[in-house]
Amino acid sequence: MSCLKNLSSRAVHRIYVEEDAFGYDITRKVLKKYSDCDIVKINNYKDVFNRTRQSFSLQKKFPQLILAVKKDTFIYEGSPMCQNFGHQSYYYATFMVNCIFDCQYCFLQGMYNSSNIVCFVNVEDFAKEFSRMECGSMIALSYETDLIAHHNIVPYLEYIYEYIKATENVAFEIRTKSANTLILSKYMPLDNLILAYTLTPQKIIDSYERFTPNLDARIKAVNHALDLGFKVRICFDPIFADEDYEEFFQHVFEKIDGKRINDIGYGFFRMPKEQYLKAFKISDSIVYAKDCVEEDGVVTFPEKMITEATKIHMDIIEYFVDKEKIYIL
Ligand code: SF4
Repeated sequence: MSCLKNLSSRAVHRIYVEEDAFGYDITRKVLKKYSDCDIVKINNYKDVFNRTRQSFSLQKKFPQLILAVKKDTFIYEGSPMCQNFGHQSYYYATFMVNCIFDCQYCFLQGMYNSSNIVCFVNVEDFAKEFSRMECGSMIALSYETDLIAHHNIVPYLEYIYEYIKATENVAFEIRTKSANTLILSKYMPLDNLILAYTLTPQKIIDSYERFTPNLDARIKAVNHALDLGFKVRICFDPIFADEDYEEFFQHVFEKIDGKRINDIGYGFFRMPKEQYLKAFKISDSIVYAKDCVEEDGVVTFPEKMITEATKIHMDIIEYFVDKEKIYIL
């Protein structure tokens, strides 16, 4: 397959591959698929990824791939700024780092020196950790990326599905803004697998979520996943100060039957100040946070505003979805 036909017009033309990564099935599959690309052998992905003075914004427009073997931590404890959806403990795994989408408010903006996409190919090592997690915990699998959006580049679900199935006592969340419905048809729904779709008003998508599918395409993806029998979570997160939300919630629940939804995540924009300052350096649009304040090292909207808006929003959402299924952060 020609690399020029992938990632829409944002072609991958170079793939960096760690020496150790060549022996893995994912690597073979990716290199076969992108056979026209330059392959650059590297010793350690950090030599390329952590280099200083890289153009984060340019790489974001034309991201290249880095295939690597993860050698240290495979599962991390989740931040208190993330929702645990009632699970006693919350973890995340990073099969990939960085994202082909470009949300201006994403915590990945400026988090690393590079916005090239790192794909860890030793899935089995991550999976070994799954079975060690305590019963009742949740692992977010699409944390520093959007796994479903990248499925046509690296089909992680193909590699991790059986491990998820085998780890029945742990819940796995795959969060996405992708409207790719085709891949789901290949898999049977699992009780411990939750597909979490982030929905935002079209105005927010147009303003801050570059390269992502529009709202109605995402809604269609939600309904498709529900029709296939998957457990679906809707994430209204992050919420911004924008009057369009009331109409937006009405629109969403006119199209999606709230009774079929597993649960809802709701939370206003929040970002650690340190990370916000990095994003501020990178982003050409930080307008989304213009009304934000800093509270205890977190940049977010003023408490009074959040309380008032949440009440208005909940009056609408709770009309369609049972209150006990709504998780507010
Ligand atoms: S889809 Fe998620 S991970 Fe990707 S840029 Fe947007 S917020 Fe970040």
